[in-house]
Amino acid sequence: MIRLYNTLTKSIDPFAPLRDDGVRMYSCGPTVYDVAHIGNMRAFLFPDVLQRTLRVIGGYPVRWVMNVTDIDDKTIRDSSVGSTRWRAEMGEQTSDPMENLRRFTSFFTREFLADLQTFGIEVDRMTNPRATDYITQMQELTRDILAAGYAYVSDGSVYFNVAAYSANHTYGRLFAIDTQNFREGVRIDADEYDRESVSDFVLWKGRKDGEPSWDFEIDGQNVPGRPGWHIECSAMSQNLLGLPFDIHTGGVDLRFPHHEDELAQCTAGYHVHDQASFWMHNEFLEVEGKKMSKSLGNFYTMRDLIARGIEPIDVRFAMLQAHYRAVFNFTFDGVTAARTARAKVQDYVYDVVDVAGSLHASASDGVGQQLIDTVGQALADDVHTPRALAALFVFMNEHPARALTPADAASVVDALRVVNEVFAVIAIEERPTLVVPDDIRALAEERWAARAAKNWSESDRLRDMLSASGWTMKDGKDGYTLESAK
Ligand code: AMP
Ligand code: ZN
Repeated sequence: MIRLYNTLTKSIDPFAPLRDDGVRMYSCGPTVYDVAHIGNMRAFLFPDVLQRTLRVIGGYPVRWVMNVTDIDDKTIRDSSVGSTRWRAEMGEQTSDPMENLRRFTSFFTREFLADLQTFGIEVDRMTNPRATDYITQMQELTRDILAAGYAYVSDGSVYFNVAAYSANHTYGRLFAIDTQNFREGVRIDADEYDRESVSDFVLWKGRKDGEPSWDFEIDGQNVPGRPGWHIECSAMSQNLLGLPFDIHTGGVDLRFPHHEDELAQCTAGYHVHDQASFWMHNEFLEVEGKKMSKSLGNFYTMRDLIARGIEPIDVRFAMLQAHYRAVFNFTFDGVTAARTARAKVQDYVYDVVDVAGSLHASASDGVGQQLIDTVGQALADDVHTPRALAALFVFMNEHPARALTPADAASVVDALRVVNEVFAVIAIEERPTLVVPDDIRALAEERWAARAAKNWSESDRLRDMLSASGWTMKDGKDGYTLESAK
């Protein structure tokens, strides 16, 4: 039984899919105006681990949609003619704003998917609809909301009427809203448009000169423009998953206004009480007590980390060591510690495979089941990855590889394969045989001879040469071993 924290009920509730053909899940994706930073990556790692848990531990097939916001103020600004952010890889800029937008956002969408992949996120299991491919559906929804009496056209734009909606429905189901503080909402566009009251948000933005736009017939008039941000996710989730679907994910900052508005739009236009039955939000990744963000400038992209010699998979491991609902404090020391811990697990895998004698020895029962049970219990408890990893380390300590029988070792290999289907941080394979280049071997032999002759200074000099080439020479009683630092 899987239990998940639901922002809608504010409690940890038993999870079961609404339909018997599996779980339907929608994750708010990136705005593709730049490469994602690793704070954003946390919001994409969480649904990945969640869908893996649902599939591997829960046994449910999962249909997973993560949208790509390819139209908003920033994508328009940065794709426009003369933008300094245009890159050669995007091709030539044209005189057509729509085509420029497409080239610009296609480039960042590819970068985004490549980053997800280096982070072990199962890109092949998700669908990535682009907002601009669903304009018609967004327009239909906007018309339906108007027809229901919860929208109005003003000065060429269309707004959601929160006061009218609140008269019949609850606005604030996900997030306790203080109406006095409406202006603090992040993307309300309060300064740009006339609105009846401060709480109304834009469904459709009137066209500005030089911007990509679509014609839109509504309320007997044509209001060319483009969709607001919130309407995208309501329309795409309805079209791709059907309402209500099972799980909606995003970072905590999306609870309000984005998710509250998505939900209100679905209720108003699609006449459903719930857009999704579970709403799940990951906490922030912080640096020195502050949310990692573009605007604070305290961010690292995946590429920044790789340039510092950090492997993305070690960052994944580090993030899994925190529960998704707890703030994750990013530090380089933390990543180094994660690297050491991950290497320990990988080493255990190599040893167990060695004892089992084969990667695919079949083992129906054996001690491995205990590993699946303890890790599975932690994951089933609101995706508690830190406890799940701790359970793995407890198991490793209690069952040293060299103490296992070959049959038990085979069952542990199988179990490691299962838990790694969720963690995705190690390789289930034999220890790679180390290929020592000839020049390194020659240096080692020379040093071994110097050592035998008690020529300590020469021996030290040769050892330093080896370590400068990335090799460590370990002396034994009857011989030496060489280890690569990589
Ligand atoms: P954005 O592209 O800004 O709309 O953000 C994409 C996703 O990343 C959203 O789900 C945000 O909630 C999430 N996000 C942004 N910054 C952070 C952060 N520092 N930690 C965790 N999630 C974040
Ligand atoms: Zn969304």
